[in-house]
Amino acid sequence: MANQEDIFKKVISHAKEYGYVFQSSEIYDGLSAVYDYAQNGVELKKNIREYWWQAMVQLNDNIVGIDAAIFMHPTTWKASGHVDAFNDPLIDNKDSKKRYRADVLVEDYVAKIEAKIDKEVTKAAKRFGDSFDKKQFLETNQRVLDYQTKGDGILKRLGKSLENEDLADVKALIEELEIACPLSGSKNWTDVKQFNLMFGTKLGASADSAMDLYLRPETAQGIFVNFLNVQKTGRMKIPFGIAQTGKAFRNEIVARQFIFRMREFEQMEMQYFIKPGTQQEWYEKWKEKRMKWHLSLGMGEENYRFHDHEKLAHYADAAADIEFKFPFGFKELEGIHSRTDFDLSQHEEFSGKKLQYFDPEENKSYVPYVLETSIGLDRMFLAVFSNSLKEEELENGTTRTVLKLPAVLAPAKAAVLPLLKRDGLPEVAQKLVDELKWDFNVVYDEKDAVGRRYRRQDAAGTPFCVTVDHQTLEDNTVTIRHRDTMEQQRVALDQVKAIISKEVDMRYWLQRI
Ligand code: ATP
Repeated sequence: MANQEDIFKKVISHAKEYGYVFQSSEIYDGLSAVYDYAQNGVELKKNIREYWWQAMVQLNDNIVGIDAAIFMHPTTWKASGHVDAFNDPLIDNKDSKKRYRADVLVEDYVAKIEAKIDKEVTKAAKRFGDSFDKKQFLETNQRVLDYQTKGDGILKRLGKSLENEDLADVKALIEELEIACPLSGSKNWTDVKQFNLMFGTKLGASADSAMDLYLRPETAQGIFVNFLNVQKTGRMKIPFGIAQTGKAFRNEIVARQFIFRMREFEQMEMQYFIKPGTQQEWYEKWKEKRMKWHLSLGMGEENYRFHDHEKLAHYADAAADIEFKFPFGFKELEGIHSRTDFDLSQHEEFSGKKLQYFDPEENKSYVPYVLETSIGLDRMFLAVFSNSLKEEELENGTTRTVLKLPAVLAPAKAAVLPLLKRDGLPEVAQKLVDELKWDFNVVYDEKDAVGRRYRRQDAAGTPFCVTVDHQTLEDNTVTIRHRDTMEQQRVALDQVKAIISKEVDMRYWLQRI
């Protein structure tokens, strides 16, 4: 079996070859950790955004959307804590001159311990066969328990040091664990320093009147500063939510792993305003709701897990990640944060304006608490794309590359193929395209043998191929080929739309939540 790195390389090259993701300004050799979405990528991204938006805004009558500007008054970022506390601990290797996030070095070390646990499980599963009880094994095997204790202990200590801003101890931990630079193999490290992640820019023409601005590092603050405007004009009653999708910018130190960690990326965030004291209940509810949203896409329950935070951000009283099994292991895909009244209270203090809600049931005003769900659209894209890319062995001994995207998210829903480029078949096929395009993205392809066209559509992720042949001219039937099963059905032309709709319509997918 191919190793993780090979699989990930395949994902990146497939994303380029099939028009999903290109490196930004590639003709100038690219810009580090900045990517462009190509003709298919933009459709997949749009569909993921839409799937999130419908689940959040359209299907919840107490959640509304906004689209706030990327630029915000600079005091916003003082109030939010980003000027003082939005830092990553960085460490340089003196020999390779490479810069790393100190916490990521330690977390990668723990991930290796976790991989050892997985190996023990695989070995034991083989040994015990059908009678293997994974849960019992994890709870009783001494070697696994030792690994677990070691990993947990390291993460606890890291969490504590970061919380106390004890950067010397983070360095000590790296030295004690004998972590080496992945590039040079050297253990010659600098001290750990804090590095602010916000990009600065200027507003205004003349040097002395120009105002220092930041590109927003998260979309959430645009929601907080609009909280009262939306509440009043929308006559919203607590609990209610405000959702937003949009660009965010972070000057990430370690920007690698393709679109997993970018300097310019898109977030989909929802802030849910609640009564103080109810945060635990909503935290549990939103954790469950968000997990259901993910599972509705059918990408395998075993690929998701919750990870509760040891180290809480300055604004949170509880936080968990939904982690996904990316080609390089389980990593954060979405965060669910109980943000208390931190943000609104801070904005009250810095703006001098009241940001309170009058609760008619309690007959008093208060600053609401906030429960946040925050997912990276690009990370979700990578999760969907990498999980869908498969190499399949076929019965005839050949292999095919197929991108098994959830049909609801696929860029093109169907390809219409005339079997031959003559005898009036292209005209009939084109007519079908003209009918279907009112409902779905469809593509027309008449080049090469039909088998090769099928493979091309498989690799591009198109769920259906509709083939027009000579029989079509006689009895108005076509064949529909299903991407995942490769099964072919002969159906009447006028049934094609209904068959495709049934599989790609968002309503059927969202009903699973
Ligand atoms: P990480 O620990 O990976 O840096 P984070 O905890 O800082 O992420 P949040 O601030 O909670 O991330 O942001 C919410 C979501 O935004 C994340 O779950 C992730 O999906 C996405 N995200 C954050 N930073 C990036 C980035 N640099 N590139 C792409 N997506 C990102």
